[in-house]
Amino acid sequence: MKSGIFFERDGILNLTKVERGHQVAPLSFDQFQVNPAATEPLQKLKAAGYVLLATTNQPGLSRGYLPRRELDRMHALLKQRLPLDDILVCPHDETDHCPCRRPQAGLLMEAAFKWHLDLERSCVISDKWQDAQAAHVAGCTSLMMKSPWIGKGHHDFVLSNLSELAQKIDQLFSSNLLLMHRP
Ligand SMILES: [Zn+2]
Repeated sequence: MKSGIFFERDGILNLTKVERGHQVAPLSFDQFQVNPAATEPLQKLKAAGYVLLATTNQPGLSRGYLPRRELDRMHALLKQRLPLDDILVCPHDETDHCPCRRPQAGLLMEAAFKWHLDLERSCVISDKWQDAQAAHVAGCTSLMMKSPWIGKGHHDFVLSNLSELAQKIDQLFSSNLLLMHRP
């Protein structure tokens, strides 16, 4: 079994706008900008042998304001710029009550099955509480980037920026803290 590193897409792997205190995800390829700060940490983690996966809630697909073609173009660019093994998308709206929309853990479970991942030895990187909660349900360790959206629920670690990520993950795995801090 392998270890996976899950990255929330919006705000971590691509840049987002903030409007009225909320992150606004890009709705067209023209608005999509890969986060330059993600390149180096992802390259380091890829070289260290982790399976790298992006996860994203894109309710605009089912609500009808995000064309699938635009999303496909964004994700083709993301895979070209970053060494991602897979990009997992929840296309649903809250009202669909699907198992894959974070804070639910469905996307993590699906990826674990597909990529033979040991979720207890996998990490979730995000700036939002929904991913910390999904990580907690799935048994992954959550590393949150400091942001206004972390919330007060369970999360394991908070980092001030992505440049600290590869070293932190290396430290967690080499000291076996990933397993030890679990109840
Ligand atoms: Zn879903």
